[in-house]
Amino acid sequence: MTALEITDAKVSDVAGTPVRRALPIRHRRTVGAWCFLDHMGPLSVGPQHQMLIGPHPHTGLHTVTWLLSGELVHRDSLGSEQPIRPGQLNLMSAGNGISHAEEGPADYVGTAHGLQLWVAQPEETRGGEPAFEHHASLPQAELSSGIGTLLIGELSDPSLADASPARADTELIGLDLDLRAGASAIPLHSAYEHAVVVMDGAVRIDGTVVTPGQLAYLAPGQSELELETTGATRAMLIGGVPFPDELVMWWNFVGRSREEISAAYEQWTASDERFGTVASELARIQIAPPPWTTD
Ligand code: MN
Repeated sequence: MTALEITDAKVSDVAGTPVRRALPIRHRRTVGAWCFLDHMGPLSVGPQHQMLIGPHPHTGLHTVTWLLSGELVHRDSLGSEQPIRPGQLNLMSAGNGISHAEEGPADYVGTAHGLQLWVAQPEETRGGEPAFEHHASLPQAELSSGIGTLLIGELSDPSLADASPARADTELIGLDLDLRAGASAIPLHSAYEHAVVVMDGAVRIDGTVVTPGQLAYLAPGQSELELETTGATRAMLIGGVPFPDELVMWWNFVGRSREEISAAYEQWTASDERFGTVASELARIQIAPPPWTTD
């Protein structure tokens, strides 16, 4: 098996929540079309401290929200209002433009822990209509040491689980791994590149131990991934066909040029109808212009 490439996530703080950003990082911008991965928490939440993310815009990407614990309510400019709980998938497609807000419900007391991922949309759909999907349940594969839940895509051995019903604009996989002590072999699409992020516990891959706060990258050409665990572990496997386009990402926008991103920023700032409005009591998020802007 080809050596794993291990990179440390960048630790940051988003609205008071500790976040490990595993993608994009300096030497790795995408894994398939996956272009952003934030591992948030675990943190204690309650009436005094909830996750509150006011209305903000997106372009050219799908947002994928996946919780291990806690609860969020999603509201967007299409009129969607959707609570999400662990094991469920929210998938929002921005296309040419959408805006949304996410709020922890005021009465929830407990732990918040999850992943926020983005998938870059290909040229064919990135200027298209926005959309939102919620999947209350997803196909699962019985592995020898646990359960794999398919957020997106399908396993290369389709006898293990049905394909996920979630929208995918490119060839892609997202597989949650809920493992106990033992070993599991996951069949891979050999044309895909992959990465593993551990949310809780640790996995050993080809002799290397991977823990939370790291991205373990595997180049295309692998037909199987062996994961060894010594105790309860939760991890996410992402992968896909290497993304062909050079992306320009800034704030919440994914595009192909600075001009596109600047235009989206200007339109959001001007409350242009491109991004619609969100039925949220939270304030719209507004930030300083892109660093390349000159005036
Ligand atoms: Mn967002």
